[in-house]
Amino acid sequence: MHTIKNQFDVVILGAGAAGLMCAITAAKRGKSVLVLEKSNKAGKKILMSGGGRCNFTNLYVAAEHFLSNNPHFCKSALKTYTPADFISMVEAHGIEYEEKKHQQLFCINSSKDILYMLLSECSDLGVELRTGVDVQNVMKHAQNPSDQGFKILIDGVSDSIVCKSLVIATGALSIPTLGGSGYGYELATEFHMPLISRQASLVPFMFSDEIKDLCEQLSGLSTPVAISSNQKTFEESMLFTHRGLSGPAILQISNYWNPGDDICINLLPDVNAQEALLEEKVNKSTATLKKYLNTFLPKALVLQLEILWWVEHKDHALCEISNAELNTIGAQLNHWLLKPSSTEGYRTAEVTLGGVDTNALNSKTMEAKDNPGLFFVGEVVDVTGHLGGYNFQWAWSSGYSAGLFA
Ligand SMILES: Cc1cc2nc3c(=O)[nH]c(=O)nc-3n(C[C@H](O)[C@H](O)[C@H](O)COP(=O)(O)OP(=O)(O)OC[C@H]3O[C@@H](n4cnc5c(N)ncnc54)[C@H](O)[C@@H]3O)c2cc1C
Repeated sequence: MHTIKNQFDVVILGAGAAGLMCAITAAKRGKSVLVLEKSNKAGKKILMSGGGRCNFTNLYVAAEHFLSNNPHFCKSALKTYTPADFISMVEAHGIEYEEKKHQQLFCINSSKDILYMLLSECSDLGVELRTGVDVQNVMKHAQNPSDQGFKILIDGVSDSIVCKSLVIATGALSIPTLGGSGYGYELATEFHMPLISRQASLVPFMFSDEIKDLCEQLSGLSTPVAISSNQKTFEESMLFTHRGLSGPAILQISNYWNPGDDICINLLPDVNAQEALLEEKVNKSTATLKKYLNTFLPKALVLQLEILWWVEHKDHALCEISNAELNTIGAQLNHWLLKPSSTEGYRTAEVTLGGVDTNALNSKTMEAKDNPGLFFVGEVVDVTGHLGGYNFQWAWSSGYSAGLFA
């Protein structure tokens, strides 16, 4: 008779980036490892990532690329397992990759390469993966309160699973259809661990004022900008969509934006627009403002800006417009203040800010300080990366660190 094994050294909840890396690392140490995945297949976010090409790491990774209540927490794990370590694994599997701008590394063929690499390592090392599993309950399973051990109850399965170490790698709230879940936070709360409040991030902005219509008119248009909020600035491209603003610049700044905050968009990051307009006036330019600005910005955008900022001068030559008005328009071009009404939320957010408070975790091992044998890795932890491969690097590094001790 075939009996289902129900005792393991390590059980990992979640077969995403962090969980699979943790499984590989623990199995390499000779541990018996079981990964329990709620979804019908492993690594759905890996498959969807980087537009299907998985931006799996970045050549330059430092603590400055991460947000957390404790900005130092991520340092130890990032040093223990570096981008170079992950690249060696990718190369050992013969996966072709390329460097894109900002030192971002992407697969040349498909994100599938990364997922298959992780799954084949797991399988070679004897890691057991069970998908479509609904974890009902997790409790301590030990003789004495100080002993290490956990019991896991699965919906529809009579025998519970017992393990010495339990790793929570259930990810975060973003994109429920790709496995986004709050289960890790629920478990942390059950184990009396503090949480940092959560917020959708790396996410497009929406507007309820006249900017909503402008975005709709310009939907599909992308332009390079410098964008700032809360003393942080990113120079990247910005995309107008039928719902609002998106593109790398917007996603990056969304990490630093709180509801009610303004964002400041510099449409001409390399030009002092006030000086340029006044200089053009001195040169007695007979061009209209629109014609002049068309040399710097996409025509469709300039047309919308004209409606917004200088419609009464639309037929005037630039030299006929007063200095004061040119100064105002120039200032708006370099400091366009907008107030998003909201973000698109978890439906489209790439990540979730906040999570399990790092104060409750050991930064070297990812183990809960007050719950021996309980580990939290990846996005469920209050560590969030910038756009550019940093979130996967955090998943690899934190998963690996826990795998060394679980
Ligand atoms: C569309 C998209 C594109 C992205 N592109 C990139 C990119 O190119 N580069 C980058 O660095 N980052 C990218 N990210 C972010 C990156 O995917 C995440 O930061 C990373 O996947 C987090 O890894 P994780 O293992 O912590 O969580 P996840 O990868 O989300 O894995 C968590 C797993 O746990 C499972 N799970 C949830 N609840 C339970 C439960 N109760 N029991 C069992 N299993 C459960 C989920 O189904 C999932 O499989 C992207 C995110 C999205 C949404």
